[in-house]
Amino acid sequence: MIEYKVLSRKYRPKKLKEVIGQDFTVRTLTNAFANEKLAHAFLFTGIRGVGKTTIARIIAMGLNCETENKPTANPCGICSNCKEILKDRYEDVLEIDAASNTGVDDVREIISSLKYRPSKGRYKVFIIDEVHMLSNSAFNALLKTIEEPPSFVKFIFCTTEIQKIPITIVSRCQKYNLNRVTLTALCNYLEEIAELEKLNISKDAINIIARNSEGSIRDSLTILDQCILSFNNENIDVESVHQTIGLTSQSSLLELYINIVNGDIINANKVLHNIYKNGAAPKQIIDDLLNVTYSLISSLAANTNIEIYEKDKFQTIIDKCDIPFLNQVWHMLLKGKDEVNKVSLQMEALEILIIRIAYGSQLPSLETVVKKIKEDNNDELNLNLKDNNIGNDIKKILDTFPEGKVLKN
Ligand SMILES: [Zn+2]
Repeated sequence: MIEYKVLSRKYRPKKLKEVIGQDFTVRTLTNAFANEKLAHAFLFTGIRGVGKTTIARIIAMGLNCETENKPTANPCGICSNCKEILKDRYEDVLEIDAASNTGVDDVREIISSLKYRPSKGRYKVFIIDEVHMLSNSAFNALLKTIEEPPSFVKFIFCTTEIQKIPITIVSRCQKYNLNRVTLTALCNYLEEIAELEKLNISKDAINIIARNSEGSIRDSLTILDQCILSFNNENIDVESVHQTIGLTSQSSLLELYINIVNGDIINANKVLHNIYKNGAAPKQIIDDLLNVTYSLISSLAANTNIEIYEKDKFQTIIDKCDIPFLNQVWHMLLKGKDEVNKVSLQMEALEILIIRIAYGSQLPSLETVVKKIKEDNNDELNLNLKDNNIGNDIKKILDTFPEGKVLKN
């Protein structure tokens, strides 16, 4: 059997110029290499899977690559130093996971090894991953060393939680904040991988994978891996991705939405229970509905068709909604999310929420009501709020919106 190499390892960048979606960091580091202005200590922060340790390893390799007679941002990857670093067998590059080596002794061991020059290459490089996990005493032990390390030593720290690192450490490092990779960059990258891997995967499927990775390259490749394992050489389409990551299918979600805006409570409930039966948690369903609402609002606001799958259903909803109504739905969903948290039977709270929104969708808009009253009154509105004698027309409006309240000042 051929060993399956996960995509994130197979396609891990080996040069800075191959790193995806971190243009600013890549440019700054490349310049630092070119001008030989590399710091003693680097600190990379950012969410999981955006390239922190990947860049750390490239730097380690770049510092020791033998092809040029000075450090390079784009190491060759084939000289003996590069090869050994890639295989994690190079004794002067030490990668430590602070999640399992949190103690002061581990740090003291590093510090005592700094006395010796690197055995082969130019630099000793210590990569400390999840560095925020180090204990306080470990940080204290590091402090002095980072301030004035021997010229042949570089520290590279990576963390998802920079706020947990003592400021005294942070201020001694050259700091790089890696951002979430943009949706477009992720989609383009996944398309490239799909081509290299000769996958039958639709553009829409790639788009969903990218969206659900929330800007993490590693997450996106992990989902793609799972799809490949589940569906082999078959076509990977939107439904296969949904199945793989246990997402509510976009199709049933939009169907739920259509029933809501039609005020069809019975069918909305049917679809809702189907979605639930297929494994979606009530809170997830609300999040998904929020996401659809967001797409609808931005599509209406920009007055353009945003790139979306299930276009017809999407359009059906757009045709029936305006921004004020969707804005109201957005707020009701957000409020509903709180309510769901407060009850033990979350599905019941969600059902009530769906009924409330569906009911609200059938009410005329405030604008229509006011216009109607104005028409009846020769363009006059009685909005007198004095004492308990609230204006007649406000009463009429309130009759139309039973949930409304009058705020007196
Ligand atoms: Zn090399």
